[in-house]
Amino acid sequence: MEIMPATRTILILEDNDERIAAFEKAVPTLGGGFQLRLWHDAPSMIKECEAYFPTAALISLDHDLNPRPGVTADPGTGLDVAKFLAECRPACPAIIHSSNTERAWSMYNELRFADWIIERVGPMGIVWVETIWLRVARKLMAGHPNSWPARLPVDHDSRMERAMLAFDGLSLGDGFGECFFASPLTIELRLQHRDPPPPPWFVTDDTMMALSIVRCLKRYGHIEREALAHAFAREYAREPQRGYGGTAHGILRAIGEGMPWQTAAGSVFDGQGSCGNGGAMRVAPVGAYFADDLDRVVAEASASAEVTHAHPDGQTGAVAVALAAAWMVREGEHQTQTSHAMIEFVLERIPRTETYYRLKKALELPLNLSSRTAASVLGNGSQVIASDTVPFCLWCAAGHAQDYTEALWTTVSGLGDRDTTCAIVGGIVALNAGRNAIPSGWLQARERVEI
Ligand SMILES: [Mg+2]
Repeated sequence: MEIMPATRTILILEDNDERIAAFEKAVPTLGGGFQLRLWHDAPSMIKECEAYFPTAALISLDHDLNPRPGVTADPGTGLDVAKFLAECRPACPAIIHSSNTERAWSMYNELRFADWIIERVGPMGIVWVETIWLRVARKLMAGHPNSWPARLPVDHDSRMERAMLAFDGLSLGDGFGECFFASPLTIELRLQHRDPPPPPWFVTDDTMMALSIVRCLKRYGHIEREALAHAFAREYAREPQRGYGGTAHGILRAIGEGMPWQTAAGSVFDGQGSCGNGGAMRVAPVGAYFADDLDRVVAEASASAEVTHAHPDGQTGAVAVALAAAWMVREGEHQTQTSHAMIEFVLERIPRTETYYRLKKALELPLNLSSRTAASVLGNGSQVIASDTVPFCLWCAAGHAQDYTEALWTTVSGLGDRDTTCAIVGGIVALNAGRNAIPSGWLQARERVEI
């Protein structure tokens, strides 16, 4: 079995035999027993390189790739690998050694914007590997040691299973709720007959942001704020028309253009930050992942909200939803009848900001009340702020914790910001009702979403 010494692997993407020979000759002169791991094509490097991140000292990438003799599969390009790496937390410094100037800059920018330490080395003359490349490699490795955190919990996989269940519940709720922005007559008929909307159910910003959260948990085992902020901004830049709120456009664009998230999130609403419902709408997977440790639920949910929502109540909304999700994992199965227990549990653990006081009113509302009446007291998200959204959602989730579809019908009947209210309730209730409670036809109706 090959044993890799710590941080002593150099990962290279290169198709040209002469250059490969030059790298093989040059690397031993660095000293320190570096091992070379070489890929000829982008797809296999993308598939295999993450396993080397804990020991990687340097990555060096070519751009143009030709198929190897006898190989017909598309070798891809270095830009494919750069885009993949940009989705990962920086592991070590990297070099772009392609002579395709335009594409080399694209690769450089992909990695730079994702916070990788990166330099370009243009192949020049015949001895560039043993001269310029070696010099830059030496300098980079001396100044920037491996930064990969191997801190995933031992039960990471089962935590991720829960996070994915919350994500499916959330994204399905998002797509379902979004279909109910229709004429009042259409909506009322559907509600009356419990008639699910025709597919496809397109997902919105709620799902796209939750996707970045799930990817962050999968990669780091916690909320890495810097990486999450950039992931939000990248998803936004890719598809800005997913229904993001007015303030979110400005914040995510600014982060994408290089403004620190602290500045971008802190500058809106005259420096108060946003108290919108965006932190709450995407957070259920965080509660699911950390359900065994309530202090972590609170801290990680706050962190996930903070990168866009600097206002304390924007964060309280997220903490409340994450706690509700955690409660479903911990207590849900022991509850034989519906009660306000989950709401009480959340109230005991959230700061006394506006969402707290509004949620307290939910304790006085019977859980079998019509959701329109509940919405008239608690709000329904039509102001798109946390305090006007989260209390109603928790009331809906508490009343229908055993029944995923009925929870969504009840929630959407309250109208208001219905993609978001259904996303929040769906993410929470799925954790108690379980996968089997989600109709497969509904999942098929939802737009396909890849983690
Ligand atoms: Mg939305």
